[in-house]
Amino acid sequence: MKLETIVLHGGYSPDPTTKAVAVPIYQTTSYAFDSTQHGADLFDLKVEGNIYTRMTNPTNAVLEKRVAEMEGGIGGLAFASGMAAITAALLTIVEAGDNVVTTSTLYGGTYNLFAHTFPQYGIDMRFANYRDLQSFADRIDQRTKAIFCESIGNPLGNVADLSALAELAHQHGIPLLVDNTVPSPYLCQPFVHGADIVIHSLTKYMGGHGNSLGGIIVDSGKFPWQQQAAKFERLNKPDGSYHGVTFTETFGQAAYIARARVVPLRNMGAALSPLNAFLLLQGIETLPVRMDRICNNALAVATYLKQHSQVKWVNYAALPDSPSKSLVDKYMGGRASGILSFGIQGGREAGGRFIDALKLIVRLVNIGDARSLACHPASTTHRQLSPAELEKAGVSEEMIRLSIGLEHIDDLMADIEQALTAATLGT
Ligand SMILES: *Cc1c(COP(=O)(O)O)cnc(C)c1O
Repeated sequence: MKLETIVLHGGYSPDPTTKAVAVPIYQTTSYAFDSTQHGADLFDLKVEGNIYTRMTNPTNAVLEKRVAEMEGGIGGLAFASGMAAITAALLTIVEAGDNVVTTSTLYGGTYNLFAHTFPQYGIDMRFANYRDLQSFADRIDQRTKAIFCESIGNPLGNVADLSALAELAHQHGIPLLVDNTVPSPYLCQPFVHGADIVIHSLTKYMGGHGNSLGGIIVDSGKFPWQQQAAKFERLNKPDGSYHGVTFTETFGQAAYIARARVVPLRNMGAALSPLNAFLLLQGIETLPVRMDRICNNALAVATYLKQHSQVKWVNYAALPDSPSKSLVDKYMGGRASGILSFGIQGGREAGGRFIDALKLIVRLVNIGDARSLACHPASTTHRQLSPAELEKAGVSEEMIRLSIGLEHIDDLMADIEQALTAATLGT
């Protein structure tokens, strides 16, 4: 079925007992065993069923199935946040002594995790130049376990060359992991272009209303873990962290997503609340119609800013002269989601005045809300970065990031216009 249908029906049919049409919220921590034997069989993975909500929950299961269908994957695994999903996605296959090749143009939280936290645990994160495929290749060695990228980088708006990165990863027997938060599966399905694992912050466009944190990993089921048994020992040898199970033997092509559930999720515990799963499902039902409006609004705002005399530059991949235009055409049908950034004449101070003058667009550090949002990355999301790191992340001091929402375009334009005037008058 098409995505517009999957968002409404995927992973759920009316509950057989109650006939409830909306997905029920299973607000429970645990599930009763029929007998001691039943409990033992559940723990041995001999029968299907629920044990404890840190591992499985029926509301979360609908979300996992629905997003997996939307991405064209074989299974999903929900987490308490996007950061928890990214952490678990890597820890499923990476450990001390290993390395991962990525780029520096990433969401600020992901950059901090990669540049500062993972190295403290012996995981070497190697930052390539997103414009230069060779720089990814140069950083791969025997201990490289994955390539990680964002399909559209936040906040730079750069688009990853997904099929080229997938090909490079596969030449080296490693998977491509893609954070697909910014375009959402409505605009881009990385598995179609060769990616192996997709990750989302559901907090953003998927939930879409700025009310719940959540994250998810989706497994394409296509990566040949068994053929790369020497590289991915944890999936191919008995695993002490789950009763000595050998994931590729027990779960076949679902080995990766199974280990993600019973090792990082179960042992580290960043489980999604079922109430949040329900709220995120509500948001997902309207993803396609919201994204249509958001893309139209964002393109109109970017086009307006581009010709404005007070604006120095605009980054929005769907603009005709954007360096990412050919990639956004190839992977996203020419549509670049709702995030755009721009630099205003007068640098950091004028940027601050612009943000302070906004009356409708909300000053905060989220993206993908139904409301339009504005932030100054250098003083907020990317504040901990040194000037050199800021430059590598593609964040200039004057950069303003807008996350365009669903308001009427006339009202958005009027707010931006008056804030630009106020920012200029202040000089
Ligand atoms: C927000 C965001 C994350 C982190 O998600 P949380 O739900 O806030 O933990 C990861 N990647 C991208 C691209 C994001 O925008």
